[in-house]
Amino acid sequence: MKRFFPLVFALVLSLNAWAQEQAIRPLDVPMSFAGTYGELRHDHFHSGVDWRVGGKVGDDIHVIKSGYISRVSVSPWGYGNGIYVTHPDGTTSVYGHLLRFCEPVARRVEKEQYATESFSVNLRFAPDEFPVKQGDVIGQVGNTGSSAGPHLHMEIRDTEQDLSLNYISRGVYKPIDKTSPQFHRVCFYALDTLPLAGSWRIHNLTKPEAVRDTLVLPWRSYVAIDATDRQEGTGAKLAVEQYRVSLDDTLLFAFKVGDVPTDRGRYIRSLIQYDESRRGGRDLVKSLVEPGNRLDDRIESRHRGVIELDDEAVHTLMLEAIDEHGNRAALRYRVRHGDERFQAPVRDSTLQALPWLWYMQNSVTDSTMSYYLPAGALCDNIYFTWKKVAGPDPARGIVSDVWQIGSPDIPLMRAGALEIAADVPPELEDKAYMANYGRTLSYSGVNVRFGTYCVAIDTVAPAIQFVERKKNIVDGSRIRIRVRDDGSGIEAARVEIDGKWYLSMLRNGVVSLELKPERLRRGKHAIKVIVTDICGNESHETRDFSY
Ligand SMILES: [Zn+2]
Repeated sequence: MKRFFPLVFALVLSLNAWAQEQAIRPLDVPMSFAGTYGELRHDHFHSGVDWRVGGKVGDDIHVIKSGYISRVSVSPWGYGNGIYVTHPDGTTSVYGHLLRFCEPVARRVEKEQYATESFSVNLRFAPDEFPVKQGDVIGQVGNTGSSAGPHLHMEIRDTEQDLSLNYISRGVYKPIDKTSPQFHRVCFYALDTLPLAGSWRIHNLTKPEAVRDTLVLPWRSYVAIDATDRQEGTGAKLAVEQYRVSLDDTLLFAFKVGDVPTDRGRYIRSLIQYDESRRGGRDLVKSLVEPGNRLDDRIESRHRGVIELDDEAVHTLMLEAIDEHGNRAALRYRVRHGDERFQAPVRDSTLQALPWLWYMQNSVTDSTMSYYLPAGALCDNIYFTWKKVAGPDPARGIVSDVWQIGSPDIPLMRAGALEIAADVPPELEDKAYMANYGRTLSYSGVNVRFGTYCVAIDTVAPAIQFVERKKNIVDGSRIRIRVRDDGSGIEAARVEIDGKWYLSMLRNGVVSLELKPERLRRGKHAIKVIVTDICGNESHETRDFSY
């Protein structure tokens, strides 16, 4: 038995060596962030850190630890060009928005794109296909996918659970951060005395640090906070890690994001003051804890975060914002009770209303409409409201009544199923679609959140327009084609050169492609663009070009 000992010892040593490989920085430029972990992004938490590169694409990305490239994904949206490196210590590092992948991976991706005739690909690799050593260049920084400027989005995930980890608060990197968070806006909301009737805004403090007067609040209210963090050397507004609200030194509400729960990230809509965000505003974290909010493992609260004032005394309300390095900002308000000042807003009496409980499935049927909402779609009990807004409008292609379904200010965690009766001639049945109703119509699908909907017909094929410069559709080595569909919307665009599929990307109504000498010999060619809308109307356009 004795002779096995050295082997076991060696194994433990080498595992330790792997575990102790310290992550290096992915970029050569000094460490600075454009976005941090856990930022509030309306319908999800930012699950990585955005590393700054100084405004230009093309910097090399170094893999932070040894391992192997386990996955790459390409999409016009999301991470754009994304690359995943799995490490032996049980983590996977993820790099998003790349300009390009390193050469062998790029070749493999392009091969797959041509084999499947698809721009978007998602490839998984075995450990022996693309092994990498710490520091190897796996690609260059870009601005692809849902990115508003050159930067590197980097995550570290727990490989097994596919859980994104807050690696800055874990101390994997140590940025200089001695600056405290800042408060931008603080709002107070009165809770209606009628059950289910919701709340309304009573104070909107846009200079929250400057308030000296005692704030008058009704018997029951809550507070919502817009705060961001600052760090040395970057102008970016970064994530506050922890929010706290206390009344007379008793904690009413605390939220700490921890590791972003990717499976429950959508419950951010219940954490924030949803109507403020929806109006294009910033995300304010509210103290009110709704019973169906499944982020409750990250929330500590008393009285569901409601500020209750039932005496005439002046109380102290303290708001705190704390960043991941423990820098803290606090605001103190004097508050007292004064019910008489607060009048609930007059409600639209033309709306019909039904009490809906969040833990039940709910449904409504009314003449030409029925709507079903599954249990767990709501986070709180509500009065569900609805109304017929208008009748059919053939000139606009609207072939049903127009229905307002619920209030769009109420967030849903899951969509409901909507049916609206419509008068559609049999030959046009496949041209009918459920539409978001507004100044323009757009495809909504039948599973919808609260909003206004109708059934519309689309028989018009998309419009195609080549972008030209001096009668030439080739600009350098690129061709760009504008595509538009005023009805249901563009479903897909296909590009063929000399009759063969050619790689192109459709994004924001523009099809773009790069002419590559290794794919296409120099000379005369014909390009054909085929565009379909969601109702299956198709148009195409062919042009000759040389390059
Ligand atoms: Zn990011």
